[in-house]
Amino acid sequence: MDSIPSEVLKRYQDLKEAIAGHDYLYYVLDRPEIDDDGYDALMRELLRLEAEQPSLISPDSPSRRVGGKPLDKFEKVRHSQPMLSLDDVFDLQELEGYLRRAQGSIEPFPWTCELKIDGLAVSLTYVEGVFVKGATRGDGTVGEDVTSNLLTVKSLPLKLKGPVPHVLEVRGEVYLSKRRFARLNEEREELGEPLFANPRNAAAGGLRQLDPKIAASRGLDLFVYYVVDPLSLGLESQGEVLRWLEERGFPVQRAWKVCYDLEQVKDFISLWQEDRFSLPYVTDGVVAKADPLSQWERLGRTARAPRWAVAYKYPPEERMTRLIDIEISV
Ligand code: NAD
Repeated sequence: MDSIPSEVLKRYQDLKEAIAGHDYLYYVLDRPEIDDDGYDALMRELLRLEAEQPSLISPDSPSRRVGGKPLDKFEKVRHSQPMLSLDDVFDLQELEGYLRRAQGSIEPFPWTCELKIDGLAVSLTYVEGVFVKGATRGDGTVGEDVTSNLLTVKSLPLKLKGPVPHVLEVRGEVYLSKRRFARLNEEREELGEPLFANPRNAAAGGLRQLDPKIAASRGLDLFVYYVVDPLSLGLESQGEVLRWLEERGFPVQRAWKVCYDLEQVKDFISLWQEDRFSLPYVTDGVVAKADPLSQWERLGRTARAPRWAVAYKYPPEERMTRLIDIEISV
């Protein structure tokens, strides 16, 4: 590290500490002190420094971590496969670079575009088609057993339809609708309690309550978008996965589309840039996933995210509008 100027080193250490502190507040306590745009700016600065000076990267860098540590009060669940985060891009040029790199020099393949639901990731296990266990992502390797709280989510199927394997694990997003969020904050204001920063924090707080009655009173909701080991079910593309999940009775967000080239991906993003405000829940971007599952094997993953998917985040101005939208939607 000798060649790294001391002010760069100092800035890097400060960024690492600041991000670690915000991660703890956000993921463990569900009580963020800065908004997501402020956090993303810190993370991007850290990533830029790491790209410029790769020798800076230490094993404890927040750029290598997924989420936060599970709380002590819940039973721990070790995930059968890591629950990863997603790489973010913030403009169309970056998105194009990401998709072109993933494409490489092979025959072009399609991308499935889905809306990015601003909630928190959960894993759901079914045995003989019956829901038996649900867990949060935690640090990606170990999560929290929140089964009793997930049982209060009315859209979560307790028994699946059609043929399913003996053990099935799916993953998705628990979220709070804009209407529920507004009502919850109104109630909290009347009681003089601190308000939730956004629906995601309110959902995360609800799912991690020790008393399931509190989780039930939040009225949490669910979308499922992933199945562990899809090839063993004879599924070959993300589009087939989403259809299969819907046929089994899972709530699947309907706006997804298979896009055959970059222009179609961009069209999907621009279509939903405005239209998403009319949805009853908050979406903060679009997730593009390689549609053929064979590409998932080929592209693999980094320590924190798959290389076969990328999240395009809508610009901050849009998110400002979103907050106003929440207020007027009640
Ligand atoms: P993320 O929210 O950027 O994206 C990854 C997650 O998207 C996945 O884990 C999954 O849960 C979710 N997702 C939603 N819809 C999906 C779909 N259709 N397909 C696949 N995945 C889907 O990543 P993260 O690791 O959950 O959180 C990081 C973000 O959290 C940061 O970008 C930042 O904005 C925010 N954050 C804020 C603070 C703060 O203090 N304000 C602190 C830490 C993190």
